[in-house]
Amino acid sequence: MSSRLSRSAIADRNRFIALYLAMAIGLVVAAGAFLYEARIVLQDNLRDEEAFAVLGSANRVLHDLESAETGQRGYLLTGNESYLSPYRQGTQDLDDTVLRLQQVVVGDEHSLELVRRIEHTKNDKVTELARTIELVRVGNRPAAIALVQTNEGKQDMDSLRGDLNQLLADWRAKRGAATRDAHERLVFGTAALAVVALLTCCLMVYTLFIQRRAFARVHAYSAVLDQQAAQDSLTGLPNRRKLLSAIDALASAPRDESRKIGLFYLDIDGFKSVNDALGHSAGDALLRRLADSLAAASRSSDTLARVGGDEFVILALDCGDDEQLRELALRLISRVRTVGETEYGGRFPIGVSIGIATYPDRVESIEKLLDVADAAMYVAKRSGRATYSFGESPGGGPSNVVRLTR
Ligand code: GH3
Ligand code: MG
Repeated sequence: MSSRLSRSAIADRNRFIALYLAMAIGLVVAAGAFLYEARIVLQDNLRDEEAFAVLGSANRVLHDLESAETGQRGYLLTGNESYLSPYRQGTQDLDDTVLRLQQVVVGDEHSLELVRRIEHTKNDKVTELARTIELVRVGNRPAAIALVQTNEGKQDMDSLRGDLNQLLADWRAKRGAATRDAHERLVFGTAALAVVALLTCCLMVYTLFIQRRAFARVHAYSAVLDQQAAQDSLTGLPNRRKLLSAIDALASAPRDESRKIGLFYLDIDGFKSVNDALGHSAGDALLRRLADSLAAASRSSDTLARVGGDEFVILALDCGDDEQLRELALRLISRVRTVGETEYGGRFPIGVSIGIATYPDRVESIEKLLDVADAAMYVAKRSGRATYSFGESPGGGPSNVVRLTR
């Protein structure tokens, strides 16, 4: 059992190492992938902000151009200077807004090319607007109208609108792509994280299962060890250690003093002769046979233990009066004698000497029952064997020995 347990412990330890390693690698990979995705999402955000700035600047250029043209048209029609206010505002801002547009598209060659064209056309347009206004100012409105009617300004405006719309479309597409990519990565990252969390949970549950199984095995093994430590391997009866702990438990438990406890110490008479004549294994077989016989003679509530080579003890709770004790002792002696008569053709005169101690009338403490009964057993031996003797604590009356024939 112990080598099986140690083999399974080694297998469990290897499993633990593999599982923890898998968990650690999984977590590191997940963290790495998550960081990578987070970096790209940040870049997508920057691209989105950049596109937003380009869209804002392009719209601003268009707005400034339209303001300037509206102001010029109003002035041309009315000659009223107040119409020139949006014209001035528009042309004033245009240089800055185009410059800003150039700055935000830097890095994108195609957009930069478009902005250069926009700047060029914008300059033509602004020149055309300025010339018409100047002509009106000097009183040559027909020349100004004629200049407008050449449609050069309109063509410039159409070209500007076309280029700006192209720029807007490009950067709207870029912005859309960045947002979509960030969204997809966010979904992918969350799904990957959920999978890793699920896997980690599964591994942890499995680890818990292995741990519980290992604990159960250790628990079962320690229960077997406890059992073996308390059992006599030859007869299966409780051993001396178990008997002593039963006596200790009895001594420390609260109890009804009116109920007598009796302890019978038995030593088989003439047992060694079987060993000497037939060998140790025959002696073992006889010991097992004797154990069965003694168990059959005692009550089910009594504890029968093998405490030494051919020594047995019966611990009887609520053992009754002396008459009942004598009856039990005689029954035990008779059973053992019968075993001697039936085993090995009755060649060996087997008997049993019994010492009896009772608490609280003959012995003042439960712990001393075993010693007093042991001493009483020797008294029975000395009195000729196959008999019993009551023992008392020192200071008590003389032993009561009953002689019996074998
Ligand atoms: P007595 O009548 O004075 O009790 O003597 P006995 O022949 O019964 O021998 P004793 O009680 O002095 O000694 C018991 C012997 O039992 C001693 C030992 O060789 C033998 N013995 C002890 N344990 C075992 C065992 O597990 N198996 C067997 N076969 N013999 C054992
Ligand atoms: Mg003996």
